[in-house]
Amino acid sequence: MLWPDIGSYVGPTPNSNAGGMVEHRGLVLHIASGFYDGTISWQSHSHGADSTSSHFIVARDGRCVQMVDTADEAWAERAGNAHWLSVELEGFAPEDSLHATHQGWETATPQQIEVCARILAKMHAAYGVPLQLATSPSGQGLGHHSMGAESGVDWGHSMCPGAAIKAQKPAILARAITIATGAPISQETFMAALSDEQQHDLWVWMASLVDPKTPPSGRTDDRFHFPAVMVALNAKIDALTAKVDALAAAQGGNLPTGDVTVSGTLHVGAPAA
Ligand SMILES: [Zn+2]
Repeated sequence: MLWPDIGSYVGPTPNSNAGGMVEHRGLVLHIASGFYDGTISWQSHSHGADSTSSHFIVARDGRCVQMVDTADEAWAERAGNAHWLSVELEGFAPEDSLHATHQGWETATPQQIEVCARILAKMHAAYGVPLQLATSPSGQGLGHHSMGAESGVDWGHSMCPGAAIKAQKPAILARAITIATGAPISQETFMAALSDEQQHDLWVWMASLVDPKTPPSGRTDDRFHFPAVMVALNAKIDALTAKVDALAAAQGGNLPTGDVTVSGTLHVGAPAA
């Protein structure tokens, strides 16, 4: 199948076997060790024994193309080709010569994570691929290239896609589950997917919703102050609830039904240090 909602089709490439897929066990992650346009160009032509291809190629900014139909074998994992779909991520592994001038490119970008998750979710819908992590060619779900070599199977490169992208597999899976099921991921999974800096930014944003908020430390980004602010906010809500209860009692216990709209600004005093 061609999946234009994932990426525009740029095939066919001579580096593929039409109708060669015998099953769809899951998606295998690769690092391209190259740029987006260069990888598309390389896969589009034969290079003799060095010919390769993948079903999808994803740029660091999230652009994506489909090189090989999902019913056809791409040439990415040797013995695994007829069993797994493959995706090449624009980037450079630490051992690649261009990595020195492209620090951080051994890690998938959030945009690449999103596209990989969409591919996996679509495979779940189209082929019943289970939404789980695969760690060997006998598994199913979200795999990676070197799980072949790590299992003693001839899948080629033992360093692809590298430790950084392997560590991102849970984040890709979590996002795929959300896309496929519509269910939000757990708070633990969400927080684990954030960097320390992103978690800090989240705390600062949450704290900014409550005003005033000058913590004893004088730092407006003091995350440890935030729980104290929440305690003060809860106290205000309890007091408000008590007033509503009193009002209801004065009315004979009969509150109006339907939605209640409250307008105005909620002010919470700084808690005692
Ligand atoms: Zn690879």
